[in-house]
Amino acid sequence: MIVFDLCCGAGDHRFEAWFASSESFADQQARGLIACPICGDVEVKKAVMAPRVGAKSNQMPSAAPAAVAADASEPSPELVRKVIAEIAAKQAEMLPQSRWVGRDFADAARAMHEGRAAEDLIHGQASPEEAQALRDDGIAAMPLLVPIVPPEAAN
Ligand SMILES: [Zn+2]
Repeated sequence: MIVFDLCCGAGDHRFEAWFASSESFADQQARGLIACPICGDVEVKKAVMAPRVGAKSNQMPSAAPAAVAADASEPSPELVRKVIAEIAAKQAEMLPQSRWVGRDFADAARAMHEGRAAEDLIHGQASPEEAQALRDDGIAAMPLLVPIVPPEAAN
């Protein structure tokens, strides 16, 4: 698994996305499956490559995998692979029960965190700023390690 910092051609918005490999990224990019979470532009390109992994692997958040990368740390490559494989497997298990909320992810996660909405499993898109704000507020969210196609783009 690898995380790329991407930016879109339309607005130079920067965002992060996880891929199985560079080839997987290139394939999805060529097929127009990677869209900018801010403006929806599919003309995305690599910004800077930054391998990262979630450091808080001991807790699977009740409220959702999201397009959020955890703090960077320097664990061994073996540990990185193990943790990522475990998270990806867990997410693949959870996804069928998870509700796609698209761009409303940050709002929905916050509403559940604050008790304004029932706890639910959700996944969706968040901008780097929204992701950072969720982290700052201690709201559990994870980067999705399994590829998904937003329902609105799958028809
Ligand atoms: Zn954009």
